[in-house]
Amino acid sequence: MKIRTRFAPSPTGFLHIGGARTALFSYLYARRHGGDFILRIEDTDLERSTAESVNAILEGMTWLGLEYDEGPFYQTQRFDRYKEIVRTLLDTGHAYYCYCSKEELDALREAQMARKEKPRYDGRWRPEPGKTLPEPPAGVQPVVRFRNPLDGEVVVEDFVRGRVVFQNSELDDLIIARSDGTPTYNLTVVVDDMDMNITHVIRGDDHLNNTPRQINLYRALGVEPPRFAHLPMIHGSDGAKLSKRHGAVSVMQYRDDGFMPEALLNYLVRLGWSHGDQEIFDRDEMIRLFDIADINHSASSFNPEKLLWLNQHYLKTSSPAHVARYLSWHLGNQGIDPSTGPDIEQVIAALAERSKTLIDMAQQAAIFYREFESYDETAVKKNFDDSTPSLLTALHEGFAALPEWSAEGAHAVLVATAERLELKLGKVAQPLRVALTGTTVSPPIDLTLALIGRERSLARLARAIDFTQAKKSA
Ligand code: GLU
Repeated sequence: MKIRTRFAPSPTGFLHIGGARTALFSYLYARRHGGDFILRIEDTDLERSTAESVNAILEGMTWLGLEYDEGPFYQTQRFDRYKEIVRTLLDTGHAYYCYCSKEELDALREAQMARKEKPRYDGRWRPEPGKTLPEPPAGVQPVVRFRNPLDGEVVVEDFVRGRVVFQNSELDDLIIARSDGTPTYNLTVVVDDMDMNITHVIRGDDHLNNTPRQINLYRALGVEPPRFAHLPMIHGSDGAKLSKRHGAVSVMQYRDDGFMPEALLNYLVRLGWSHGDQEIFDRDEMIRLFDIADINHSASSFNPEKLLWLNQHYLKTSSPAHVARYLSWHLGNQGIDPSTGPDIEQVIAALAERSKTLIDMAQQAAIFYREFESYDETAVKKNFDDSTPSLLTALHEGFAALPEWSAEGAHAVLVATAERLELKLGKVAQPLRVALTGTTVSPPIDLTLALIGRERSLARLARAIDFTQAKKSA
């Protein structure tokens, strides 16, 4: 049997952390077993579904690299097929028309609540042998209800939850088509999973209660249901259900905030799944090791610090060429064209150990590509004094005389200047750093010089000489 899984989001918002984890687990399970992973957009709720949301989901899947083998399939393009199945269920006696008005159903509910009973449909239009049904009222478009078995139980052998037993007597006759003829979720999901030969349904455990209804539908259609794995919820660090309150929950917000997709994927795979106490998994390893049986049974909680830690790990260990794909986008967002400065891979190599996020890296990289606006005040106070113009002038001369611009050459000038002026290296390097970057933080000074380049370095020194000279005479 070929394993086939699917991710079936409803396009009513962005791709959020919980959805991305569901997609990842479905993807990994299919990949692990050489199976297929399918994307299906469940857009039958015409009022809540939007094209922007479809785009956001596709964008999120692409950014995370969750490649699907088939799809995206759109449920709105399959209405004929759902109608056909509703017809079949009607013809085989597994479904029936119900003409109850909203008022009737409201009255029924109120009466049941008054008697302290669980509100449920009372089966008044349900055909039974020997039962006479009411006369259909004129001008009413009926809904179609599924004729759920009245007794017996439905057993869900869930990969995560184990054996979960539901009594049919607890399930009422589900509406499978609305009065306007449009199908409802529980019907479309069954028809699609059946037609798409899905073998394993991996989804959030908010769907667990739908599962027995769906299993009954499969049985009515004479089809073996797929296997199920219902994933426990994700909580915020305070124990409440993960929501906007806990920070970003949209996958694309993490891109915007400077995370690498590898970091988010690695973070997501550990959110409810483990392999011993291993924390770092690259994609190949995830695929090799992932097993539904290792999914945790209890809710997992979202830990932003750990995500940040993973992001730093991937910034440090990924090849600069790979990081460059993401960093150049962030530089672009800051109005920087990476072709106007040093080789971006060298910049990444210099900053990888010093950056928490790509935004952080892009901000630190800015000095290699464009002028900084002003000197940091504290940096000036601590590092510029009346002797600075002559120090910077000596450095300017030394650098200008270098035959070749390199970190080694710059270092030699620094050492020679410090010796000549009888200064400790730090007393030379730090004012120079402020002159070159406006701040006291940058990669090693010789590397900083090499990356800024000859022309820009000399111009910035000249600017600092003017600045410190003016300060001195003031
Ligand atoms: N469309 C449903 C949702 O977004 C998922 C359905 C399923 O996975 O069965 O919650």
